[in-house]
Amino acid sequence: MADTPSLHIAVVGGGPGGYAAAFLAADLGMKVTLVDPELNPGGVCLYRGCIPSKALLHVAKLIEESQQAKSWGIDFAAPNIDLARLRTWKESVVKRLTGGLGQLSKQRHVEYIQGRAALENSTTLRVTKADQTETSLTFDRIVLATGSRPAIIPALKIDSPRLMDSTGALNLEDIPGSLLVVGGGYIGLELGSVYAALGTRVTVVEMLPGLLPGADRDLVLPLHKRLEKMFESILLNTTVSSLQEVDTGIRATFSGAAIDDSNREKIFDRVLVSVGRKPNSEIPGLENTQVSVNPRGFIEVDKQLQTADPSIYAIGDVVGEPMLAHKASHEGRVAVEAIAGHKVAFEPAAIPAVVFTDPEVAWCGLTETQAEKENREIKVAKFPWGASGRAVTIDRPDGMTKLIIDPQSERVLGMGIVGAGAGELIAEGVLAIEMAAQARDVALTIHPHPTLSETVMESAEVFFGTSTHVYRPKRG
Ligand code: FAD
Repeated sequence: MADTPSLHIAVVGGGPGGYAAAFLAADLGMKVTLVDPELNPGGVCLYRGCIPSKALLHVAKLIEESQQAKSWGIDFAAPNIDLARLRTWKESVVKRLTGGLGQLSKQRHVEYIQGRAALENSTTLRVTKADQTETSLTFDRIVLATGSRPAIIPALKIDSPRLMDSTGALNLEDIPGSLLVVGGGYIGLELGSVYAALGTRVTVVEMLPGLLPGADRDLVLPLHKRLEKMFESILLNTTVSSLQEVDTGIRATFSGAAIDDSNREKIFDRVLVSVGRKPNSEIPGLENTQVSVNPRGFIEVDKQLQTADPSIYAIGDVVGEPMLAHKASHEGRVAVEAIAGHKVAFEPAAIPAVVFTDPEVAWCGLTETQAEKENREIKVAKFPWGASGRAVTIDRPDGMTKLIIDPQSERVLGMGIVGAGAGELIAEGVLAIEMAAQARDVALTIHPHPTLSETVMESAEVFFGTSTHVYRPKRG
């Protein structure tokens, strides 16, 4: 595949966007330099995001399941949690994967520089290496993949070791007696679930009327019900107006419709603020280029991920939402193909979103909420997991799979799933949407039995009123 050997490109940032871009560029025969402050590539996703959080969620699920096993006639003793060993295991997962990326980088002859890059101009980087030495390097093209960091609410910024962002929460310094999670988005709910499983009393505060704003409400409901049992409380339509360090913890003050004198203040052992992420677009020297940044702080790019400066491309969290690893990687590959001169554009029909709670929530393509907003005519076909043999064998009938279908063309426009393993199942929806599949294609595809994947096929059958395991009167 070596067809662009003459280009020398630099990638700034070694996250899933940056390393995917660097590796493909090397595969296409380019000379590649990848700069990141860590010892190996990985970025937020591997060091302090997707990977450590999923390792801990795996442990949380095991603890939860061991408790559920009571109803199957198996009694386990209460778990004895060795926090140091749990941390070591989580760190070993990170080390194994980032070490693997380091190897892949070497095998491809990518020049990996541990350091931070500043832009001297549109084609020259000034790199400060880990040993503080500096070097200036010139390239044909530069790809900016500097990612994002946790957003901060100035009113809640207090100087206290008890206050954590997602990185602090993943460090798992202790198992606090009580934890306040500010923000009911996916990061807050995933990390809240980890601490709840380890024994912490968790309170989640969300200023909007529901958890996981942006997801369809019928997908969130089963999760909300389960989290109500796991967490001490979930306060919706509520704002944390202030935090104050006191002798016994952090005193939080709440305001909102459901708040009165009885629940206006509470002291927590720890507070996790997870209210979104901010793009890392304040790259030193960016002003020496023609790159433009929009008012929300995202670097502006076109469909080839090219910035307003023709030599500079940008990808991943730093260019916009959804801030997800797979979106970053895909953009990285598109940017490199564009640099190689291939006819390519970033225009996905569907980007999947997965919340790795228990149950998992996943969706892709058009959501019902979005269709309603756009006044778009759709048909929704839902398959309840109570009718799935597999869901019942694993004692998880609390799920649901739904297809969002165009009533005229019968094309699949969106898919939503809540239930165990939804994150694995959603890929079928992404493929169906990308392939412009009709509901009939999904219904006529033989799915293995007994698996949860059958719920996708049967939701398509529901659309035609012919689902084997759900009785619905025929249409028309
Ligand atoms: P990043 O991964 O943010 O990497 C950017 C890199 O650039 C960093 O290493 C940074 O240090 C480096 N950098 C910045 N400035 C410079 C500079 N000047 N010079 C050199 N290097 C620089 N996404 C999912 O898809 N699935 C999940 O399950 C998921 N879980 C998450 C859980 C948590 C707790 C968090 C915080 C995030 C999670 N995400 C998840 C989001 C995901 O981590 C990001 O979308 C993804 O990492 C973005 O990739 P990126 O390549 O754009 O940048």
